[in-house]
Amino acid sequence: CGIFAYLNYLTPKSRHEVLDLLLNGLRRLEYRGYDSTGVAIDSPQANDIVMVKRCGKVKVLEDAITEHFSGKEYDEPVMTHVGIAHTRWATHGVPCETNSHPQRSDDENSFVVVHNGIVTNYKDVKTFLEKRGYIFESDTDTEVIAKLVHHLWKKHPGYSFRELVEQVIQQLEGAFAIAIKSKHFPGECVASRRGSPLLVGIKTKTRLSTDHIPILYGKDTEAPKTKVLPRTESTSEFMPLEEKEVEYFFASDASAVIEHTNRVIYLEDDDVAAVRDGTLSIHRLKKCLDDPHAREITTLK
Ligand code: GLU
Repeated sequence: CGIFAYLNYLTPKSRHEVLDLLLNGLRRLEYRGYDSTGVAIDSPQANDIVMVKRCGKVKVLEDAITEHFSGKEYDEPVMTHVGIAHTRWATHGVPCETNSHPQRSDDENSFVVVHNGIVTNYKDVKTFLEKRGYIFESDTDTEVIAKLVHHLWKKHPGYSFRELVEQVIQQLEGAFAIAIKSKHFPGECVASRRGSPLLVGIKTKTRLSTDHIPILYGKDTEAPKTKVLPRTESTSEFMPLEEKEVEYFFASDASAVIEHTNRVIYLEDDDVAAVRDGTLSIHRLKKCLDDPHAREITTLK
């Protein structure tokens, strides 16, 4: 099972190119084993999300995509786009189209989620949400994530996408790597992990200006302005990553991103990685004494 997500910022790509990229990412993750697949991309209809899911191999999804996404609008370049993709190894609910990922918050695809792992307390969360009027369509544990983020979004209209996901992961028990896309937050993607692997790949035209991404704790929304010394006492400054033209990848495994970039950040448990206006930030709810100031951008060999 595997997650692959892609975000291009000010880097023109047609929807067909984005779909090819997502399918290639899934192919690289095939070795991990799976029974179904799916993708979600921005629809050419303004502010909408389209999903295609299939039981079976990536090839089956590819054929479905060829059939589903035809038309000139899919060849036109889009400056900024978010696509998420998944190969599923069913743990809760039989392999079928409805149980495949992305899972959605509602029939308008407000929030769509790809997930690897098992949410062990999903029954409690499901009961909580059902009492508030949510009707579940799948038998997966994952669907609670999509619906919980939607519930919190309605309850806290001022929250950022990242804050919503931070609230969500506090309610989850078990193991997860997730990537979420929303039509209410176009051009943004939020991902997190606990127990299941997840990394961020960064591709820029010119050499990256920094080797570290500062970690923002608690209510911080901006990277520290002053110089922060890493524990090694080197003098390198942790700058927020502000590239003009950039592409980001979220993947379960480096093998899915290596064809695009060798610069990656391995996320730690409970990191929330958010891309907004082309800028990647990594957040954690609490800072403990020995917690680092930054995550390193590793160069894959
Ligand atoms: N528990 C989720 C499901 O059964 C995700 C499984 C996976 O990691 O692929 O849908």
